Amino acid sequence: MDHIKLWEGVKNEIELVLSKHEFVWFKDININHIEEGVVRLSVPNTFVKEWIWKRFHNNILKILRTNNEAIRGLDYVIIQNKEKNEEGTPKPKQIVCNELPLDEYYINKEDNLNSRYTFDNFVIGPFNEIAHTAAQAIIKNPGKNYNPLFIYGNTGLGKTHLIQAIGNTIKKNFPNKKVFYLTSEKFGTECLECLQNNKMGYFKEKYRKYDTVIVDDIQFFSGKEKFQEELFHLFNYLYDNYRQIIFSSDKHPNYIPNLEDRLKSRFSSGMIVDIPNPDNQSRAVILKAKSRYYNLVLEDDIVNYLAENINGNIRELEGVLNTIVVQTQMKNKSLNLSDIKNLIKDATRIKKNVSVKDIIKVVSQFYSIEEDSIYEKTRRKEVVKPRQIIMYILREDFNISYPSIGDKLGGRDHTTVIHSCEKIKKDLKIDQSLVQEINQIRSMI
Ligand code: ADP
Ligand code: MG
Repeated sequence: MDHIKLWEGVKNEIELVLSKHEFVWFKDININHIEEGVVRLSVPNTFVKEWIWKRFHNNILKILRTNNEAIRGLDYVIIQNKEKNEEGTPKPKQIVCNELPLDEYYINKEDNLNSRYTFDNFVIGPFNEIAHTAAQAIIKNPGKNYNPLFIYGNTGLGKTHLIQAIGNTIKKNFPNKKVFYLTSEKFGTECLECLQNNKMGYFKEKYRKYDTVIVDDIQFFSGKEKFQEELFHLFNYLYDNYRQIIFSSDKHPNYIPNLEDRLKSRFSSGMIVDIPNPDNQSRAVILKAKSRYYNLVLEDDIVNYLAENINGNIRELEGVLNTIVVQTQMKNKSLNLSDIKNLIKDATRIKKNVSVKDIIKVVSQFYSIEEDSIYEKTRRKEVVKPRQIIMYILREDFNISYPSIGDKLGGRDHTTVIHSCEKIKKDLKIDQSLVQEINQIRSMI
């Protein structure tokens, strides 16, 4: 298969789920060659390699496989631009697959905990102080204080980091206590497998042996009755036996649609804390801490500029920092404020000047419908789709909460908004013209 075509296909799919400044990373990545079913990607340096591996390795592999069944593996080779030979064909310099320990390396097979998530590298600010205090109380006395602990907040704000840091610390402080971390999705997949293979007895017992059970992204259980039932029984067992239980979710339990009341009330019986968006000052502290990790020296004016202008979540801050690291390495000099401004122009333009009304205007014009119809209750086909796209863009690009999107679009229920965003996400996977339409809309915003 044509390497360029294959790689373009992967990039097109990845682009859908990334912000613009994250996608910049893919600019300098290509397929170097394919040998015995293993695709080798050329990346410009170890930072890019680590970032790609950490965030996209599985996704890329999955997309490659959908395009070509013969592909069974993926690895990386670092090729710096200047090493291209006369014909422009890059020559591999070194294969560095095992040079930097990557996430896979840090994940403990027994308990699923990633040892990178610790309190040492968790920055505390006014925005996450309460969540951090609750976490500190738990690690002193697991199962006794704040049980269960339920942490909620938008994506990329440190929920997984915090709950895993609790797990890692309990492990260290109480070597006899067994800790287990898993995502709700994993819980669901296992439950299904056991159901199909008549192994529910095993499934029910499996998690009962742990002293601390951490379940991430519980919003996944929405509408999944069987999983909810199993979780309910597991919860009761653990709780009655004074085991520590920790949950995370992207919203407060009361706002998780189609979640049984008895689970809501169990979740609410301990401590519920949210992690909101960090304030500017906290963003600056996070940027400084993370730049130290990269050995990157950032002047105060740059840190302040970034803290004020990248209003997204912490994952986005990391994305921008990574981009700066890569650019610094490529240019082999420190970037000044105006370089940085250019670098993040795209990202900040969106965040700063665009209002919900602007987006409604662009989308309505694009589909030639009346702006007002977006707010109305009408279910006319020609209005429903643009309305769903508006919701999707507000959620994906602006990180606005579901209830607030509902409010802004004529007082719609947040479950409608969730449904609309999911629908567009699903359609984007199969409908190439929708992909193009949304790309075009984004470029007009
Ligand atoms: P969530 O689970 O809420 O989506 P994550 O825990 O995955 O968010 O955090 C996203 C990224 O930001 C991770 O790389 C994490 O290490 C980092 N991060 C989040 N909060 C903090 C913090 N307070 N200090 C340092 N890094 C953080
Ligand atoms: Mg998470």
